[in-house]
Amino acid sequence: MDNLPMPPLSNRWRDKINSIRRAKTRPDIWLVQPVTKGQALFVTAEGLGKKPASCFTCTMMNESAKTCQLIGDMLKVDKFTCATPGDAPTEFWPCCGMHHYGEPNKGVATYAEYCSDPDNLGLVWINAPRVGLAYGGANCSGVDGGDDCDHYMVEGTDKRAEPEGFCRQLQTTVPGGAVCALWGDDDEVSWREAQAHIEGVVD
Ligand code: SF4
Ligand code: SF4
Repeated sequence: MDNLPMPPLSNRWRDKINSIRRAKTRPDIWLVQPVTKGQALFVTAEGLGKKPASCFTCTMMNESAKTCQLIGDMLKVDKFTCATPGDAPTEFWPCCGMHHYGEPNKGVATYAEYCSDPDNLGLVWINAPRVGLAYGGANCSGVDGGDDCDHYMVEGTDKRAEPEGFCRQLQTTVPGGAVCALWGDDDEVSWREAQAHIEGVVD
């Protein structure tokens, strides 16, 4: 708009320029806004040490206290195992969108000056394919003991067998071992429910 000249006095030119103004100020007709890798905090498989993303591979975890430096000490970011009658036990691993790969803090527990709301960090618990794996958590295709993302698509029926797939969120091809803050699964467990399991309130 700023680079349009002032409307001249002639009605003919004023009508034309006003029509251009109307066209330029209409909302864009984009029904789905693609998200960039930067906006989604995308991390490659190499950037994750070829491990699924979880609190147990995050520099923000206080290892002894099983707490997160960004969330504070009122919430545990620990694994838990549960089983519904007739089903095999399932192990669940915590992770959030702020996961930062590296060694957890092995010293005295420390916390951010202003802690974050776990809802805003996207903290959830993620089921592992088996109980007792060295590492569980999230990645695109579910390789290396991870759980796959609902947004990851491959042509075949086995997501883990394909080295890369199409991400519906980023609208591009991504490697199976990568992850981003938009990871999602229809059977992820909320942090509220997870706390009840960790505290032994429910089995
Ligand atoms: S909640 Fe997020 S930031 Fe905190 S330890 Fe877990 S993955 Fe890291
Ligand atoms: S498939 Fe899921 S985890 Fe992987 S980049 Fe896309 S949204 Fe993120």
